Amino acid sequence: MSAERLSVVVIGAGSTGAAVAHDLALRGLAVTVVERGAIASGTTGRNHCLLHSGGRYCVKDQESAVECIEENMILREIMPHSLELNDGFFVAVSDSDMDYMRKFLEGCEACEIPYKQLTADEARQQEPYLSENTLAAVAVPDGVFEPQRMCMAFLATAKKNNAVVKPFTEVVGLHVTGGRVHGVRVWDRISLTEYDIDTDLVVNAAGPWAEEISAMANVDVPVVPTPGVMVSMTGRYAHKVINRLNVSSDGDIVVPQRETSIIGTSSWTVDNPDYIEILEDHVQMMYDRGSEMVPILNKVEPRGIFVVARPLIGSASEDEREIARTFQCFDHAQRDNVEGFVTIAGGKTTTARAMGETTADVVCAKLGVDEPCRTKTTRLLSYRAFYRI
Ligand SMILES: Cc1cc2nc3c(=O)[nH]c(=O)nc-3n(C[C@H](O)[C@H](O)[C@H](O)COP(=O)(O)OP(=O)(O)OC[C@H]3O[C@@H](n4cnc5c(N)ncnc54)[C@H](O)[C@@H]3O)c2cc1C
Repeated sequence: MSAERLSVVVIGAGSTGAAVAHDLALRGLAVTVVERGAIASGTTGRNHCLLHSGGRYCVKDQESAVECIEENMILREIMPHSLELNDGFFVAVSDSDMDYMRKFLEGCEACEIPYKQLTADEARQQEPYLSENTLAAVAVPDGVFEPQRMCMAFLATAKKNNAVVKPFTEVVGLHVTGGRVHGVRVWDRISLTEYDIDTDLVVNAAGPWAEEISAMANVDVPVVPTPGVMVSMTGRYAHKVINRLNVSSDGDIVVPQRETSIIGTSSWTVDNPDYIEILEDHVQMMYDRGSEMVPILNKVEPRGIFVVARPLIGSASEDEREIARTFQCFDHAQRDNVEGFVTIAGGKTTTARAMGETTADVVCAKLGVDEPCRTKTTRLLSYRAFYRI
């Protein structure tokens, strides 16, 4: 069937929904994005801003590590205006970190993450605020992104390809007839009116709220809202991203974002991603662990403390640090006998483009559209174009 006669509603304008909308619009489908708040007002807009090299996962979760390094390299080409390509260090500040080095380097090799070993002196020459206890460092191609700009770049390009983006438009129901989803009921939070949007297919890209949306079609998705606390400190005390050379754990990364240093993060599970308590002991852990790598962080003022939930795929009974950081796309026709409905969840903002590609492949196969993915090589419009189109 001709792609432009087919319509898709994408729920959510975080990094996932924005990338899905871009891919589908590029393949010629008529896309409408509905987002209950502003662009990137969910998890994406308040995350750690790390353009992952994959280093954090290269020992324990190599599938995620490979996804990260591949997408990191693609994003450098397609959205340079939303990235700071400042690289990252994995630093050893204890003997156990030094013991982990061999596994880490093997992981980088296995996942094809480029790396360079540095002595403590070399590392501290480049990053003078690193601890005097620094024993060694490994440089990797980490970076920093601007989450909202990233989403706006995907969506500006989608709009150029005729997508319609509706922020402040909340989905309050799905229309399901004869086992098929064929529309959404939305509440316009500006005009305070409700109306319907008919469509051929609905993509649920609602992040940690994905379960709430899928329940509207009486299906369940195994999304576990898994929050993490971050503390943004006044001042920038490293040019690069500073990671602890250990198995990814609490408080082991400092991301320089503009003139702040964001220490993160922790991990636990909640039922409701809208009301997450900021746990004081987690905040203290950020100061304690962050300052083991960059001691000045224990002396400067915090600028903000925030918390958001990852939309991880798994079960609440699993240890949340053991849940893979990769993503999954659910075709509810195959899984739950509900046609016209697809959920995408898990992953990371770094892997949003790949999540968009996987989802668009599933959607196009379902709708009989034979168009290839072109997002790997299509340079995105600047986020600045979002309001001009
Ligand atoms: C603490 C923490 C730190 C992280 N750090 C990083 C990092 O440094 N780098 C990285 O790559 N990834 C990071 N991540 C992971 C990344 O943030 C998430 O994987 C990603 O943001 C998920 O994007 P999403 O679009 O799926 O979800 P969201 O960004 O939450 O988007 C879902 C959207 O759906 C909307 N929505 C919900 N319900 C409705 C409704 N009824 N109607 C309409 N819209 C609705 C929400 O408002 C929201 O905007 C981090 C995650 C956490 C928790």
